[in-house]
Amino acid sequence: MTDFDYDLVIIGAGPAGLTAGLYAARARMDVLLLEKAVPGGQIIVTDWIENYPGFPEGISGFDLAEKMKKQAEEMGLKIETAEVTSLFLGTDVKEVVLADRTLKAKSLIIASGASPKKLGIGEDRYMGKGISFCATCDAPFFKDKTVVAIGGGDTAVQESIYLTKFAKKVYLVHRRDELRATKILQERAFANDKIEMVWDTVATGVDGLFGIEGVHVKNVKTGEEKTLPANGCFIWVGTLPNAQFIGDDIKTDEYGFIRADARMETSVPGVFAAGDIRDTPLRQVSTAVGDGAIAAVSAEHYIENL
Ligand code: NAP
Repeated sequence: MTDFDYDLVIIGAGPAGLTAGLYAARARMDVLLLEKAVPGGQIIVTDWIENYPGFPEGISGFDLAEKMKKQAEEMGLKIETAEVTSLFLGTDVKEVVLADRTLKAKSLIIASGASPKKLGIGEDRYMGKGISFCATCDAPFFKDKTVVAIGGGDTAVQESIYLTKFAKKVYLVHRRDELRATKILQERAFANDKIEMVWDTVATGVDGLFGIEGVHVKNVKTGEEKTLPANGCFIWVGTLPNAQFIGDDIKTDEYGFIRADARMETSVPGVFAAGDIRDTPLRQVSTAVGDGAIAAVSAEHYIENL
């Protein structure tokens, strides 16, 4: 007879994990939520969320994360700060390896999210010295300065608009001549006279001794190279899954996002995935929340049927 530490362990405290935790705690499951950093996930660095239902005026990502955490904890969810290093996924026992101990659970929900993709243009050297992935964190440092933003998706466009509250000018550099971002964000960016679009262009490097003085770019159609004078460079070119610890048993897509069925169950019975870590057509707070609820109920059914 195995001694289980928990019925359910949830990995990651973004909107998906917090919702799964809320549902599991409310179902009176013996559940632990593990988070390696600060609960909230990527939304804590999102300035303003205006497409999460129920908040017609919008809400800051930080406040929304705090509310989700409070609600889940008041329902009885235990949250612990710990990083998962690996998993051992037996038929009955799911082992979650932490730095100081290994937890045994009947079921797992992986909701470890995704992180910003890098371009290899000096991110490591200039991180905190001009290169950033987070406008909410760093935009105030660029008051009345010129910055470059890279990307053409919702994040790049929305955050570029936010940057214009501080910067005097934002070059929005995109590799094609058409944005991927949703139309309403495009309209706002095009109407903003502080944003200058730099089409068909990729960034190749940055210049500067102590901080950034310019961003090297290349036009992919003409081959023309130049340097955009700027003190900051914000990179928003998509995300990569936080899946380093999952091992080989759980099937993923070619980019490493976890495949799961409509019940959020992965290729390993009893292991569920929710939110941005999942191979999903849409990565939003609202979809993460839905995933989390389904995963928790599926885990509950799985355990009942053991
Ligand atoms: P995304 O939609 O994957 O867009 C990434 C952008 O970066 C694309 O425009 C892509 O160009 C560009 N890109 C990718 N690799 C590149 C490279 N190596 N060099 C230059 N450019 C590169 O990522 P995201 O904008 O972070 O959005 C992620 C998810 O969050 C999406 O589902 C999005 O809808 C959601 N989101 C929603 C909101 C909102 O609703 N307000 C806000 C933020 C994020 P191509 O277009 O040429 O592929």
